Amino acid sequence: MAKEQGRNKIFIYSNAMQEKRVATMELANQLHNAINKGELTLHYQPIIDLKTEKITGLEALIRWQHPEKDLISPMEFIPIAENTGLIHQINLWVLKTACLQKKIWDKVCNCSLKISVNFSCKSFEYPDLAEQIKNIIEETGINPTDVQLEITETTFLDNLQLGIEILKKLQKMGITIALDDFGTGYSSLTYLINLPIDAVKLDRDFINKIGHRKENEIIVKAIIELAKALNIQVVAEGIENREQLSFLKNIGCHQGQGYHFSKPYPPYVIEEQIKILSS
Ligand code: C2E
Ligand code: MG
Ligand code: MG
Ligand code: MG
Repeated sequence: MAKEQGRNKIFIYSNAMQEKRVATMELANQLHNAINKGELTLHYQPIIDLKTEKITGLEALIRWQHPEKDLISPMEFIPIAENTGLIHQINLWVLKTACLQKKIWDKVCNCSLKISVNFSCKSFEYPDLAEQIKNIIEETGINPTDVQLEITETTFLDNLQLGIEILKKLQKMGITIALDDFGTGYSSLTYLINLPIDAVKLDRDFINKIGHRKENEIIVKAIIELAKALNIQVVAEGIENREQLSFLKNIGCHQGQGYHFSKPYPPYVIEEQIKILSS
């Protein structure tokens, strides 16, 4: 009986797996064309200086406007892109598109905002990545100091030494590096000390517990102290209310982003947000 149940379970499980695999393969095929068909698009979310509560930069966040579906979240298709080798092309496309968009905003809003781009791990397998990035920045005519790359801790687990080398090259050019989703992975503190980074982005999971869990607030405070001692900027992700904002301001967190200030929006909406958040 038990055996039979077990066998049944395996059967059901592999059926579901098979369906999922087919759906993923279909999406992967479509993603391949999406870049050329112009179906990928960027939304942007303002990043705010918490002292002045004014905008200092924007994070580019990718979406896929699938012809037969709603906007597809990056959580759904970035992992597929990473597993099929499409991610490097996407990373470079995002960087170029965001740089060109920044140039437009600088002109129409008469400002100079930093543009922050999520850069997936797989691109760090290319030894000439720094040169590829340099070319894009030069072509678009952006100041490298106005560009920030957001990486996650897992980025360098495969080839730590090469990763560090590339990061140092990028920093030499003036690009800043932010460690994204800080606190969600493991070895976080080690990475904070060993990786050449300029900023750390405190994960939303920490921020949404502010006001609910004292232990959590102690951790957030300690991370900010540590980052400050290491001369690293702290950006709080997912600030959704005044209470969270006040807490973060009081403990000296440098920057933040979240629905409290603005959701991510397409460029034409963000242009208005930039004007509001600049004044
Ligand atoms: P992330 O880089 O940590 O981006 C922050 C995510 O939190 C975004 O989700 C943003 O929309 C969401 N968010 C911001 N403020 C709030 C808030 O106040 N409340 C809540 N509930 N959520 C908030 P999104 O746009 O779905 O992106 C998810 C992840 O996908 C990103 O996490 C990043 O890891 C990845 N991603 C997004 N765009 C790109 C890209 O262009 N390239 C690569 N490689 N990865 C990307
Ligand atoms: Mg990010
Ligand atoms: Mg994050
Ligand atoms: Mg994330």
